[in-house]
Amino acid sequence: MKMKKTEVKPFKEALLLLRARLRGDVHTLASAALSATAGGVSAVPSHIADLGSDTFELDNTLQLITNEGETLVQIEGALERIEDGEYGICVECSGKIPKMRLQVIPYTPYCVKCATQIQSENR
Ligand SMILES: [Zn+2]
Repeated sequence: MKMKKTEVKPFKEALLLLRARLRGDVHTLASAALSATAGGVSAVPSHIADLGSDTFELDNTLQLITNEGETLVQIEGALERIEDGEYGICVECSGKIPKMRLQVIPYTPYCVKCATQIQSENR
């Protein structure tokens, strides 16, 4: 059974956010850090604090990218399935992926059963 558009919407938003985080945020964060140094808009103490947290975020994001390049591919696939109206359907067995699972891993193409099977095959 296909999911309704209104049901898919929050998952699509989560996926878009995740994708932006994985591939776009590095640039955004880097330029934010740069403009913070160059602009001098806010007062110095909070300024330094902001910059520090930006750098920390940047490190995290970079790590996320190196670790989860595959995730990005899965996110793209999930977004494609949303467009095709096939989101929430397991690509392996065409079974329904429980919403609980999608809430945890919105980009998963598999139901729990198939994911477990694939994981054990990869070992
Ligand atoms: Zn399945």
